[in-house]
Amino acid sequence: MKRIAVLTSGGDAPGMNAAIRAVVRTGIEEGLEVYGVRHGYDGLMAGDWSLLDRRQVGGIMQRGGTILGSARSLEFKTESGRQLAIQKMEQAGIEAVIVIGGNGSQTGSHALSQMGFPVLGIASTIDNDLYGSDITLGVDTALNVALETIDRLRNTAASHQRAFLVEVMGRKCGYLALMTALAGGAEAFVIPELEISPEAIASELADAYNRGKSHAIVVVAEGSRNNATALLEHFQQHHERIGFKLRASILGYVQRGGNPGLFDRILGTELGAAAIQFLLNGRFGSLVGRIGGEVVATPLDVVVSTRKKLPEHLLKIAKILAR
Ligand code: ATP
Repeated sequence: MKRIAVLTSGGDAPGMNAAIRAVVRTGIEEGLEVYGVRHGYDGLMAGDWSLLDRRQVGGIMQRGGTILGSARSLEFKTESGRQLAIQKMEQAGIEAVIVIGGNGSQTGSHALSQMGFPVLGIASTIDNDLYGSDITLGVDTALNVALETIDRLRNTAASHQRAFLVEVMGRKCGYLALMTALAGGAEAFVIPELEISPEAIASELADAYNRGKSHAIVVVAEGSRNNATALLEHFQQHHERIGFKLRASILGYVQRGGNPGLFDRILGTELGAAAIQFLLNGRFGSLVGRIGGEVVATPLDVVVSTRKKLPEHLLKIAKILAR
């Protein structure tokens, strides 16, 4: 193998740059030419790439986002789109591609792999909803951003006896919300896996005051049926009866934007370097992630067909610790 490509796809995640840097520098060390593809699968279909050297990936580790740019590509979901990508890579002599991305991106890399093209994935999404890595790239930094917000809100909430709602990312997976609630000491949490009614939330918050707490914070995953918009509407409509108002802070894209912390820089470095070794050993069609402290490659067909579960033991204790 002589020439490979690397791309970032889907939502950007802090730590992607560390993974790119590791792929490029370890790849060059192993005698490979590493091409950086711009804007994810869109760039792959357009042949939009350039050769990267060691210096071009210098000074990027501490930056959030991805220096290669990312994209959500509809065309790549079609077989003809993927055929075009393969054709472009074959014309340029690119023999394998490393895809840094989340669930959707790895469904795409699996589809590409099934068409016979050598692919390796690197587990990267702030949602942590990807099977094949206990924790994915970007999660730790995103959680720390959310925590900082909670800590700040707690100060003002305690001073004014206010109830606050913090909405964090997570369309189908409540991992970020659960961890933020646990580490931020929230009084309640709402996640798609465990829906709870607005009235039940109101009574949990009221209970917190009755137990002598000076603040009440509820963390909500954006994908919950009772997300920030729904809860605010309910609290507004029934304000008199509930007895207090709810103020909301929706984190949204702020969460993606942090500079990667130590954990994501190391994880990106570790997964990027390991991807090159798996590639040289011909372990194509796999996702590189970390399970039980070990860097492992899990077959992509297992990755895309297995749903990652929330840690049950943390779910259980989250309720007890909020009291
Ligand atoms: P995040 O978890 O941060 O949102 P993601 O990788 O899950 O990241 P998606 O938008 O779901 O982000 O997917 C990224 C891209 O992967 C899509 O825009 C599309 O190009 C490709 N993709 C997703 N699903 C498929 C599929 N079934 N077949 C082929 N390609 C796909």
